[in-house]
Amino acid sequence: MDRSKLYRRFRTLLIANRGEIACRVIRTARAMGLRTVAVYSEADRDAMHVALADEAVLLGPARARDSYLNVERLIEAARKTGAEAVHPGYGFLSENAEFAQACYDAGLVFVGPTADMMNAMGSKSGSKALMEKAGVPLVPGYHGEAQDDATLAKAAEKAGFPVLVKASAGGGGRGMRVVRSADELGPAIVSAKREAKAAFGDDRMLIEKYVDNPRHIEVQIVGDSHGNLLSLFERECTLQRRHQKVIEEAPSPTLNPAQRETVCAAARKAAGAVSYVGAGTIEFVSDGKDVFFIEMNTRLQVEHPVTELITGIDLVEWQLRVAFGEALPLKQDEIKLNGHAVEARVYAENPTKNFMPSVGKISTWRLPAETGGLRIDAGYREGDTVSPYYDAMLAKMIAWAPTRDVAIERLNRGLEESDVRGIVTNIPFLSALMTHPKVRTNAIDTGFIERELAVLTSATLAPGELELCAAVAAVINDERQAAQGGATSPLNSPWQTFGWQPVGRRRRSFAFRVGHGTEQKVTLNYGSGPATLVVGDRELAFAIAPRDGGFDLTLDGVKSAVAAVISGHELYLRTRNGRFDLHLVDPFGGETEEQTGADKIAAPLPGTVVAVLAEEGAKLEKGAPILTLEVMKMEQTLRAPYAGVLKSIKCKVGDIVQEGVELAVVEASGE
Ligand code: ADP
Ligand code: ADP
Ligand code: MG
Repeated sequence: MDRSKLYRRFRTLLIANRGEIACRVIRTARAMGLRTVAVYSEADRDAMHVALADEAVLLGPARARDSYLNVERLIEAARKTGAEAVHPGYGFLSENAEFAQACYDAGLVFVGPTADMMNAMGSKSGSKALMEKAGVPLVPGYHGEAQDDATLAKAAEKAGFPVLVKASAGGGGRGMRVVRSADELGPAIVSAKREAKAAFGDDRMLIEKYVDNPRHIEVQIVGDSHGNLLSLFERECTLQRRHQKVIEEAPSPTLNPAQRETVCAAARKAAGAVSYVGAGTIEFVSDGKDVFFIEMNTRLQVEHPVTELITGIDLVEWQLRVAFGEALPLKQDEIKLNGHAVEARVYAENPTKNFMPSVGKISTWRLPAETGGLRIDAGYREGDTVSPYYDAMLAKMIAWAPTRDVAIERLNRGLEESDVRGIVTNIPFLSALMTHPKVRTNAIDTGFIERELAVLTSATLAPGELELCAAVAAVINDERQAAQGGATSPLNSPWQTFGWQPVGRRRRSFAFRVGHGTEQKVTLNYGSGPATLVVGDRELAFAIAPRDGGFDLTLDGVKSAVAAVISGHELYLRTRNGRFDLHLVDPFGGETEEQTGADKIAAPLPGTVVAVLAEEGAKLEKGAPILTLEVMKMEQTLRAPYAGVLKSIKCKVGDIVQEGVELAVVEASGE
């Protein structure tokens, strides 16, 4: 292959991706003076990456395979818009050698390695064979061609249980099973193969010794087409859930300088074995002492910003310069490690419901400003819709500081100052992680999140005096603003005309509830004289001064900032004590527990009914399983909200159901 045909100067770049990474690539491409072309599916017409790019081309229907994974349509989009190069982002076609080849064949520059390099490193088995030859330490195991049961069983026996059965073509933690004993091996192989076949169209397996309680350490490397290859230090991505990264940091707090140099040298050796061109990552697991190669990712990684923040290098800029055919601008000894960076992945998912993805419209999107060491790479804005078709990652929040402790503190503060409503996010979960003492002291391994799940997703805090007063203040503030702005209050409050009549003393009662907890009452006294709030037997003087995103509440002479979002009767508050979700009980609404929607057994998201677990007429205990839905590749069982009789089942196995559709009716047994 002629090198100058592979890598050469271009002026228009097509970004074959969506979400935050498409936005992130567009930002740098623009700064370099390039014209940018976005591509999108029918579900993404109004998406942020489409708005950011100079031009945008519709690829096809929402399903990825009809749009973002459709090679023909992508090549055609490049042709139509005069794009000369393609950046694949991560995920989707980024590690697809056929796509890289198709770009080359169409005369386009592929911003990444060649198809040959991807073929060599793309399969975990193939890359392990290469690494073995290059003398890079591997996790012991089997990565051969033969796939018969006997060979795999012998390999597992030889490696010694526990072993990891892993799809050679795998990614995103899928097609992987931990096997603790010989009798579990057969079934694990069958199910891992099934998953791998469906996800990657390839069910070849490898067997690895399962490193108990390991850490994940990876090295960023970049090569150019002139034979230069650099390592840009390491990242530690040990905080994972189901083998997927949640928090990443650089440098690794686990390695000392000598270990750092060892792992970086091993990574350079690994990438050097294929004369790698482009940005890539060499991944290792570590038992705390030694590191073992597990795979190479031949693309930009989600967590690349932490490397950018400690090196001052824009990796997308370097990718593009390498694609232009330039030589890398720095030498290995010119790359300096400065400070510490930590990244958190913000997802639309519900940690208290087994991390079920959350879809819908983002009604509030308030993230802190990118100052004081904070960086935010987002793919969504207020008003955008999170659809069920793609990865649920909304944004990444990254913090830099001279030390790890301060970087963590900055990240946590950034998370705490974020208000995203309309969909459920993992932000409070990320905050809980960042404040966990064991995360602070780096006493973690890849199983940490799973073990600490109960603590990390524990129920919301109980509101105290400050929060109850702040809740009333939020309602009043909202009413005032609505009155001043002429807009109708979203609360549609019956007390709209609160409080500025000059005569007499008046009072108003409020009741709030957290989840299904008991009601807590606050009384507001106003009219002539200063307004006060009564909580329990305490009467407190207060004042409210509106500010961006909320108000300052002065309570008993102490002023503190409160962030508040009101949506219908739901009130979301952030005070110095943390986050609080309160429900305003409407005194005129005749509200009861039953009207909160718990008795409707409905699909929480569009999905497929995969099992019906109870029969009509059956007597059910509270919490008894009724049916199982598959939603966004995850199973979710719907249960009886209270003890009763299953009156009817309104669906059958195989039905595809829309969000909100009633699936069963349970009649409460008389209480
Ligand atoms: P790995 O876990 O192998 O290191 P990364 O952590 O870099 O990989 O994540 C890549 C994953 O990101 C893909 O497997 C895919 O699930 C997900 N993904 C792909 N495209 C997007 C996108 N545009 N926005 C958010 N996530 C994406
Ligand atoms: P993927 O392509 O899905 O990213 P990896 O091979 O990178 O697959 O593995 C994903 C994660 O699984 C790693 O980050 C690590 O936490 C865990 N893992 C992989 N191999 C091993 C192993 N041999 N022992 C223990 N954990 C492992
Ligand atoms: Mg990996």
